[in-house]
Amino acid sequence: MKVLVAVKRVVDYNVKVRVRADETGIDLSGVKMSLNPFDEIAVEEAVRLKEKGLASEIIVVSIGDASCQESLRTALALGADRAIHVETSLETQPLGVAKTLKALVEKESPRLIILGKQAIDDDFNQTGQMLAGLLRWPQGTFISHLIRNGEEIEVTREVDGGLETLKMPLPAVVTTDLRLNEPRYATLPNIMKAKQKSLEVISAETLGVDLTPRLKTLKVVEPPPRKGGLMVANVDELLDKLQHEAKVI
Ligand code: AMP
Repeated sequence: MKVLVAVKRVVDYNVKVRVRADETGIDLSGVKMSLNPFDEIAVEEAVRLKEKGLASEIIVVSIGDASCQESLRTALALGADRAIHVETSLETQPLGVAKTLKALVEKESPRLIILGKQAIDDDFNQTGQMLAGLLRWPQGTFISHLIRNGEEIEVTREVDGGLETLKMPLPAVVTTDLRLNEPRYATLPNIMKAKQKSLEVISAETLGVDLTPRLKTLKVVEPPPRKGGLMVANVDELLDKLQHEAKVI
């Protein structure tokens, strides 16, 4: 079973982002970029399936400018077999990414596609769902457990108020939640080996996909600064302030 994993390069989760002065977006100059954390979990899950003999090949895909290749090399060092970089200078958005992945599915015929539940830069949480819709494949989103039984998979989903277990036939699309696994670190020998693995570069036009953004960002602003806290001497004073100053009770 071939597994396709989609990985996005995003601002590292430890970075405190700054909004550009003209409010058109985030200032990315000199900012540390990393593999989207949910996509690292997706790669790890694919590698674990392969280690159990349940997957034959892991192909990682990233859509974006040349810097995506760094994230693809990271995914190769974590255990993916080969990588495809779909090159574009355009800003990527969920529908365009889903259409690109669909075009690659027609070329590569994977049985399972693993995506992150969301990319932590734009927090769209849409690409996996759109891809499953375009392919008309079953989907398991926000999964925290995955079992393959022959031509079926069983997934546990993290839903409001509990866990939901679904069974679906392959081929299928799944998206990862945080508790699915704990990704391994890339070892130095594996980072070196990753440099020899195949990384194919193709243009979105070759795939016949139009990546022109459909969504327009009107403005991005910082959250309002937090007001300072206040110490109260006792519960009576707290209740008084809540009642008469904040007027919330
Ligand atoms: P989103 O719907 O943008 O929150 O992204 C959900 C998932 O789609 C991510 O975790 C990735 O697995 C995948 N994805 C989104 N954008 C890209 C991209 N430009 N290249 C590859 N995969 C992507």
